[in-house]
Amino acid sequence: MSKLQGKVAVVTGGNSGIGLAIAKRFVAEGAFVYITGRRQSELDNAVASIGSQAKAVQGDVANLDDIDRLYAKIRDEKGGIDIIVANAGIVGPQPLEETTAETFDKVFAVNVRGVLFTVKQALPLMNDRGAVIVISSMATAKGIPGYSAYSATKAAVRSFVRTWTAELKSRHIRVNAISPGPIDTPIMDSQAPNPEAADKLRTSFAAAVPLGRLGQPDEIAAAALFLASDEASYVAGVDLPVDGGVTAIG
Ligand code: NAP
Repeated sequence: MSKLQGKVAVVTGGNSGIGLAIAKRFVAEGAFVYITGRRQSELDNAVASIGSQAKAVQGDVANLDDIDRLYAKIRDEKGGIDIIVANAGIVGPQPLEETTAETFDKVFAVNVRGVLFTVKQALPLMNDRGAVIVISSMATAKGIPGYSAYSATKAAVRSFVRTWTAELKSRHIRVNAISPGPIDTPIMDSQAPNPEAADKLRTSFAAAVPLGRLGQPDEIAAAALFLASDEASYVAGVDLPVDGGVTAIG
């Protein structure tokens, strides 16, 4: 039997990379999935590739009106939500000396504020016994040059998971994080000035992984499926590393 049959899920940043892989996997397991993102063209392509059990709602997670519009639509169409994957994120790498207030605020607005309000605004619609998954990062456990703001945002969302597990326990909503290692998605390209530099970045990340390679988005989707499903019924408040061994032994 499918693991998410009849469930309604939201995946922010579901038009690319890890979020798209999660949306596809959830639909394959019987869920109806709402994906979000800012780029309408990428949302259209994503829905075309996922099929009729997915719907796109364009929006910016840093904008509360956009979040409210998403949930108003889901309330009208489905009446409730079982699973939220707060996945949308950006890196905005800058060495400490070059860090600007503008970039710092933007990375925190998307990666921290966006995650908090994506979950908070959904609570009136969340069904009891639901699951919340936030995407943290191996970066919280490493000192990666240029990642001051990014790594701190991912430590913040890991912390949310602890607080929310306690706050939502009476509703039996399980909250967990996944910390991916380096995964081969467009986020790698977003950190490099040109394709050659992006290739170099991929090679240097892969070299730091005990398994000797980048991860694939599907490998994060498999972990998200586990945490979203009843297979993880006694798993709460954890941060699951899916990183080829980087944080355990790298
Ligand atoms: P990606 O392919 O670049 O996807 C990022 C997604 O977030 C896109 O769908 C993007 O869509 C969306 N997004 C960005 N800003 C947004 C905003 N303000 N509002 C709504 N959506 C927004 O990168 P990815 O690797 O799949 O990243 C997914 C998550 O995994 C991120 O939180 C990232 O930090 C985390 N992560 C990735 C890695 C890795 O190595 N790939 C490692 C650890 C953690 P639009 O651009 O259309 O808005």
